[in-house]
Amino acid sequence: MKNVLCAKCVRCGREYPATPDTTVCECGGILDICYDYEYIRSHVSREYYARCDEIGMWRYRAFLPVEESTPAPPLRVGASPLYEAPRLASQLSISRLWIKDDGLNPTASLKDRASSLAVAKAMEAGADTIACSSTGNAASSLAGNAAAAGMRTFIFVPSRAPIGKVAQLRIFGATVISVEGSYEDAFRLSAEAIDRYGWYNRNAAINPYLMEGKKTVSFEIAEQLGWNVPDYVAVSVGDGCTIAGVWKGFQDLHAAGLIDRLPRLLSVQAAGCYPINRAARSGAPWEPMPEDTIADSIAVGVPRNPDKAIRAIQNSHGLTIEVTDDEILDAMRLLGRTCGVFGEPAGVTALAGLVKASQNALLPDNASVAVIVTGNGLKDTANGIRAAGEPIHLPPDMTLLEEALKDVM
Ligand SMILES: *Cc1c(COP(=O)(O)O)cnc(C)c1O
Ligand SMILES: [Zn+2]
Repeated sequence: MKNVLCAKCVRCGREYPATPDTTVCECGGILDICYDYEYIRSHVSREYYARCDEIGMWRYRAFLPVEESTPAPPLRVGASPLYEAPRLASQLSISRLWIKDDGLNPTASLKDRASSLAVAKAMEAGADTIACSSTGNAASSLAGNAAAAGMRTFIFVPSRAPIGKVAQLRIFGATVISVEGSYEDAFRLSAEAIDRYGWYNRNAAINPYLMEGKKTVSFEIAEQLGWNVPDYVAVSVGDGCTIAGVWKGFQDLHAAGLIDRLPRLLSVQAAGCYPINRAARSGAPWEPMPEDTIADSIAVGVPRNPDKAIRAIQNSHGLTIEVTDDEILDAMRLLGRTCGVFGEPAGVTALAGLVKASQNALLPDNASVAVIVTGNGLKDTANGIRAAGEPIHLPPDMTLLEEALKDVM
């Protein structure tokens, strides 16, 4: 990889060659992939992208840690729309607001960006089987992207994973182990099994390449804004890999001279589970928390990628906000009704955080904000109905209809 220098430990600074199956440092620290930005600069520019006709995240291959000869996996990941939302912006007293709908990825979450990269690295490692543990979306995206590339998957999910996500897993042919217990329990069992059977490991905590796939969401936001950057980017946070990736993406573009400033991060967690926000605010080491929220994708009491996430929030001079389940359900309705976008609970948590930030006047009046919707609401229709209510139930009778509609019109 001519664009990659090494994999460097975020804790002790030790450097390793970036091999396809690189995992963690000897000290237990997570590795960060370091790039040769001189090399990248000599290959891409705004002019290059104006002419580039590749669609999706592999358009940004110059910034991705893969061999030049490695083919892009088959599913089309990325190229998700960035909608400007002027009515919602004025409701929230924000000068400009954009919604990045990453629920429109092939398996309906931002996790596809990480899984596409994981499949490419598994191909480089010569693996034919990949495994991971996940709150649901990492699993379904791995299963889908691996299926398209002809690979087998073994997936560990906590038993609370919504049925929509489990259905995806089964349809994509994964062997699914639904673990009685928390995400932490599922993670531990998967780690043991990966050791035992030698599968390629797509656990976000261990695999330093996943974040490198997730960062492509920032490349898209910047390019969709004409290589401009919003003042804030709001992200929902569980393990912390997504927000760390978002930050890395903007840093990469800055280092390569494609953008001339960096955004601040708005890190949003559930009020029932916010170990990363708590540590980012206090500066003290993070501590585990219970996992008490309907936003299953971010119910992560023992985050696996806290170091990079906390550093990203702090380095960006970011804000940390927690939202209750009711505020998350409100945001599901609000997003659907003002933008026509259906997000799952964790998918709209960033928006719920922005609503709260605006209510508490935490942002300057002229702020511009991009909100990332990280997962599609069709994965979790039970919470959709909980957020928006039942339809009008009626026998087929016009008089009854007229009566019922009086209340609505
Ligand atoms: C995984 C996920 C997140 C959070 O990403 P982390 O890397 O765990 O912080 C947010 N929203 C959705 C829908 C997710 O699936
Ligand atoms: Zn180390």
